[in-house]
Amino acid sequence: MTHERATIYRAAWVLPVALEPIRDGAVMVGADGRIAAVGPSAAIEPPPGAAMVELGAAALLPGLVNVHAHPELSLFRGALEDLRFRDWILRLVGTKRTVMNDDDYLVAARWTMVEAIRSGMTTLAATESSAAGAVAMREAGMRGVLYREVFGPDPAQADESMAELRAAIDRLRRDETELVRIGVSPHAPYTVSDRLFRAAAEYSITEDLPMTVHASESAAERELVERGAGDFAPGLQARGIDTPVRGRTTVEMLDRLGVLDARPLLIHCVTIDAEDVLRIAEAGCAVAHCPVANAKLGHGVAPYAALLDAGVRVGLGTDSVGSNNRLDLLEEARIASVVHRGRLASHEILSPADLLRLCTLEGAAALGIHDRVGTLEPGKDADLCAVSLAGPHVRPVHGPEAAVFHAARATDVVLTVVKGRVLFRDGVLPTLDEAAISAAVDEAAARVRTALVG
Ligand SMILES: [Zn+2]
Repeated sequence: MTHERATIYRAAWVLPVALEPIRDGAVMVGADGRIAAVGPSAAIEPPPGAAMVELGAAALLPGLVNVHAHPELSLFRGALEDLRFRDWILRLVGTKRTVMNDDDYLVAARWTMVEAIRSGMTTLAATESSAAGAVAMREAGMRGVLYREVFGPDPAQADESMAELRAAIDRLRRDETELVRIGVSPHAPYTVSDRLFRAAAEYSITEDLPMTVHASESAAERELVERGAGDFAPGLQARGIDTPVRGRTTVEMLDRLGVLDARPLLIHCVTIDAEDVLRIAEAGCAVAHCPVANAKLGHGVAPYAALLDAGVRVGLGTDSVGSNNRLDLLEEARIASVVHRGRLASHEILSPADLLRLCTLEGAAALGIHDRVGTLEPGKDADLCAVSLAGPHVRPVHGPEAAVFHAARATDVVLTVVKGRVLFRDGVLPTLDEAAISAAVDEAAARVRTALVG
């Protein structure tokens, strides 16, 4: 570790989330990687030997928390445009099977870390079929959860799928660290049978593994669950898999199968209705809201305001760059705000201060780690990022939150720190070999392209 002494970061603005923005503020980080003090620069007395980092015209805020991403899929950026959802999934899975191996997933996950750290993210919730995200997060010094996916639409496959999942989790848990935790993810209703959902939920509860599930994302999923029909039905039937009606809605089905008892982080929740919202709130589940991916794939807009009114914890996720194309939570937050304002004809939903909370404290709470990160407060782990306010697209700065969330972009991030360790500063990522990763991405992406064309 590189932090043997205290470091004081000074910036034109500090946005602690727990307090109002502080002009000419400072954050002192102890040698233990925890926040030692937050306040106006003039009020923070540097201890002997403390390192001073002057960030100048920048906003210093808690590191950004991305509650839904697929690091192993970064090679698919821009490769799956304008497809019907079922075709998008089939092309993605088909290409993964044909040309991608574990080395490719690792290259992709490392590339995601480069992008995430450069974008000010300090926590990633990674949902993956491989172990690559966990390896890449550990190498990079990133904080996160690796939710290992399990698949199996045929009920007869459930035992086999669970055996494979248990073996994978046993391996992953051996390398679990304080920063990188392991969880499970039964993928989605169109790829997981009732039997497998039940077994995965029991496993998650017994083993105390956090869980995440893609739920209520698309019209195709809804038709399959609610009517046994739609885009996904013929493919399943052709494999000899029955497509009965499985529930009034996906959320009702997950409740019936005991999945909600595991209090999963529900990804998307676009097609939920009022009864689902109450059920999610009662079960104490959190939601990963991914507005860009939902809109870009043509699914619609999740009822964020209704979830909030019901008291559901909602974090913000980018989803994979195979759908979103960008891993930029500043942009994700801005789009969330303008989409919900447009939809509800509201001038006040998702204010800049709300966007700050959504990308930090609310994301941390959705992952259950808000006692450790998500605000700048003494005693919490020092997960920080700084966003430059100097660019012509950002100035003049009348309010720091609007400047960060409505004017700045991921490329304005100048500093990323996880538990006191600098992961990005002055354009450099000290924990990663960006040039080598970049070259490996070009090589692997060329093979992915061939498979897509072929
Ligand atoms: Zn996803």
